[in-house]
Amino acid sequence: MESVIRYDWTVEEIKQIMEMPFLDLLYKAQTVHRENFPANEVQISALLSIKTGSCPEDCKYCPQSAHYSTGVQKEKLLSYETIMQKAACAKRSGATRFCMGAAWRNPKDRDIDFIVEVIRGVKSLGLETCMTLGMLTDSQTQRLAEAGLDYYNHNLDTSPEFYENIITTRSYEDRLETIKSLRRHHIKICCGGILGMGESRDDRASFLRQLAIINPHPESVPINMLVKVKGTPLESAPDLDPFEFIRVVATARIIMPDSVIRLSAGREKMSEEMQAWAFMAGASSIFYGTKLLTTPNSAETRDDSLLKKLGIRGTPAAAASDEEDLRIIFEKIHEGAHDDQAEHHGCFRLE
Ligand code: SF4
Repeated sequence: MESVIRYDWTVEEIKQIMEMPFLDLLYKAQTVHRENFPANEVQISALLSIKTGSCPEDCKYCPQSAHYSTGVQKEKLLSYETIMQKAACAKRSGATRFCMGAAWRNPKDRDIDFIVEVIRGVKSLGLETCMTLGMLTDSQTQRLAEAGLDYYNHNLDTSPEFYENIITTRSYEDRLETIKSLRRHHIKICCGGILGMGESRDDRASFLRQLAIINPHPESVPINMLVKVKGTPLESAPDLDPFEFIRVVATARIIMPDSVIRLSAGREKMSEEMQAWAFMAGASSIFYGTKLLTTPNSAETRDDSLLKKLGIRGTPAAAASDEEDLRIIFEKIHEGAHDDQAEHHGCFRLE
C-alpha cells in the first residue's frame, strides 16, 4: 500500500493517530517507513556551531541566548579554514551532511559572502550542506540557493498556541515567512521542534500539523527532546514521558511519509532502548559528534555500538571524496591556515 501524502491534516486527526494503542502506532509507523525508505538505515549528520553565543533572541531553552546566564562563552565567527577542517573530520567520521549553525537573529548581508564561500568549500568535500542562521530575507535566501546550499534548518519549535511561552522576540509568522522564502528558492527544508517544554498533547498535535501542512513537507524533520540547561528558564521543566516522545516521532513518520525524521537533541540522556523504539517509530537520521552546538550529544562510540547492536547501517555518502582527496584538502587547509583556530592539522573530534 502506497503512503498517501496529505497537506490537509487536522489537529483532531493527528491526535487520533498519536493516541492509537502504542504497538499499533509503532507497527503503522514502521510500515510507512519501509514503504518510503530502506529498512535498517540511518543518515548521519554532523553539526558545528560556527558562531556561538550572545544571541539577541530569548528562546527559553537555549544556552546561547544573551538573555540568560548559562556560562556559554561568546565566540566570534569561525575561520574558513577551521570550518573546512571540521567538515573534513565529519566526513571521515561517516557523516554525509554537514550542518552549520550561527547564533544570529538573522545574518547581515555582509555575512552572506562568507557563508557562500563556506557552502562551496564544504560541498567540494562531497558533503551535503545545511545552514541555520536565523531568519532570512528573500534576497539572502536566493544567494544561498545560488551557492548550492542543500538544506536550511529553521525550526518551528512548538505549536502556534504555545509559542509565546517559549519565545517572545519573534513571532510564529516570522518563522513561516522564512520557510516560504526557502520553498520559493528550492532549498530543502529542515524543520522540526522540541518536546518536553511544558506543552500539552494538543500542542504537540498542533505543532505536527503545522509541519504537515507545509506543501511539500519539510524534507527533514528534527524531533528534539529538551536538554535542560542550567540558567535557562526551562532548566527545571518536568520530564516528558519517553512513550509520549516516541508517539510524536511515530505520528510525524505517518503524517509526513517521505520526510526524514531525525532524532536530534536529547539523545545523550536517552537509553539505548528508547532510541531503538524511536528507530522503530521511523526516525532514520541522527547527529554524530560529542556536542550539538553547545549541548552534549551522544558519544560516537556509544552510537557505533548501538547501531551495531541493532544491525543498523549508515546511509552511504552520495558523492564521497576518497581518503586521498581528504588528505589533499587537509594539506591545502594547513597551507592556508593563518589563525590559531586552524593550527591543528590532524583530525580532531567534532565539538
Ligand atoms: S535557539 Fe537560535 S535563535 Fe534562539 S536563542 Fe538560541 S541561537 Fe538564538
